[in-house]
Amino acid sequence: MKDKETVWQEMLSILEVEINALSFDVWVKKLRPLKVEDNILVLTAPTPEHKTEVMQRYLPLIRGAMRKVSQSPVEVIILAEDEIGEVEQNSDVKPSANESVEAKEQPVLNPKYNFENFVVGGCNRFAYAAARAVADNPGTVYNPLFIYGGVGLGKTHIMQAIGNAVRMSMSNLKVLYVSSETFLNEFVESIQKDKGVKNQAFREKYRGVDLLMLDDVQFMSGKEKMQEEIFNTFEALQNAGKQMVFASDRPPQDIRDLDARVRSRFSSSLVVDIQPPDLETRIAILQKKSQDAKVNIAMAQLEYIAERVSSNIREMEGVLTKVIFLSRLHERKVDFEICREALNDYRVQECDEITADEIIECTCRYFNIQKADIVGKRKNKEIVEPRQISMYLINELMNIPLTAIGAFFGREYTTVMHARDKVSALVVSDTKVRTAVNDIKALVLRK
Ligand code: ADP
Ligand code: MG
Repeated sequence: MKDKETVWQEMLSILEVEINALSFDVWVKKLRPLKVEDNILVLTAPTPEHKTEVMQRYLPLIRGAMRKVSQSPVEVIILAEDEIGEVEQNSDVKPSANESVEAKEQPVLNPKYNFENFVVGGCNRFAYAAARAVADNPGTVYNPLFIYGGVGLGKTHIMQAIGNAVRMSMSNLKVLYVSSETFLNEFVESIQKDKGVKNQAFREKYRGVDLLMLDDVQFMSGKEKMQEEIFNTFEALQNAGKQMVFASDRPPQDIRDLDARVRSRFSSSLVVDIQPPDLETRIAILQKKSQDAKVNIAMAQLEYIAERVSSNIREMEGVLTKVIFLSRLHERKVDFEICREALNDYRVQECDEITADEIIECTCRYFNIQKADIVGKRKNKEIVEPRQISMYLINELMNIPLTAIGAFFGREYTTVMHARDKVSALVVSDTKVRTAVNDIKALVLRK
């Protein structure tokens, strides 16, 4: 992992664009990175009031920036300066669990993601069984396997568990895990590099494997050339009897702008879903994770956390990481007060659910116009621009299809697509639009 100064500087350059200049100088720039440890970045604020203000207004953005800078799940903790003394005394605390993973350059398969530490419950039983079967007999039983489910529910974990298991038991097989984004980047690069040679090296790489795992395939929506390449890769691998596993945040039929051939390949896979975990499974996961971190937490506290976090397992892990951190900081066993403190931060981050209505409302407030205008038919610039900005923001802040966004405005998804692309470009080239987008975003996130 990069050192704290590098991480923080990279984050600042992201945040500078997202937050208006005044607030950036007053609030964000005055934070200092204290340390990076255990997947946690600790920032200090000059005063407790400063800390509260930053947590309420900017924590989601700071966290977002952290995620962009570091690939692994990371937590941000903000302390006021008068709390630091204690941390420094404690800074010889040994980083736990996954430090070895962090140390290596971009590990392709994370050894932390294995079947042994995957907690099975009603929500993921089928996915687990199918993944296990594939790992035991790659290329035969369920080929391809398509796993879908919401964010942070374990798709990448279970997919990489297949890879890790196959690597262990069949070390002669070639295993390749790749995110769709990496696949696309490599593809584009290979086309640019060896023009005319039909991207030989790229094809050999992807068609020469025994197990190909492609993560987040919803990302290929609308990317025609990439879909074509993936389709050809499918064909080659399938004919050779090789195993493919796909993961996506939605089922095949809900991925927009997908080549019919690719869709039919996805749909003819064994399609299994992962649902949000119920309370019991959440408790079991917390139990497992705290054991792995060698921290003893009583059942009452585990339940307390599990009851209060939403269904996203990654977020729940984040809360647990904070609980453990705070218990070390205060040199105290995990008690309800520590849980409450960690959950407080979590609630700020969650900002409840954002709705399209709120985004439209905040946009109207910012531009001083009426909701009826924004969702209405008028086409003058004073209305069209706010309309496009709110479409852009709904697309950015919410995880819903373009058609659904269009529906809020009584328009086609192509109109939303156009708005999204136009505002994306303006955010870069036009300061006024950028400021508007950032301020409205802050309004929405602050409420
Ligand atoms: P997704 O790819 O679906 O967004 P991930 O696979 O990255 O989610 O999982 C998010 C985090 O939650 C990971 O740290 C993962 O280890 C953990 N996790 C998810 N499901 C489970 C589970 N059933 N048991 C244990 N840990 C889990
Ligand atoms: Mg994932």
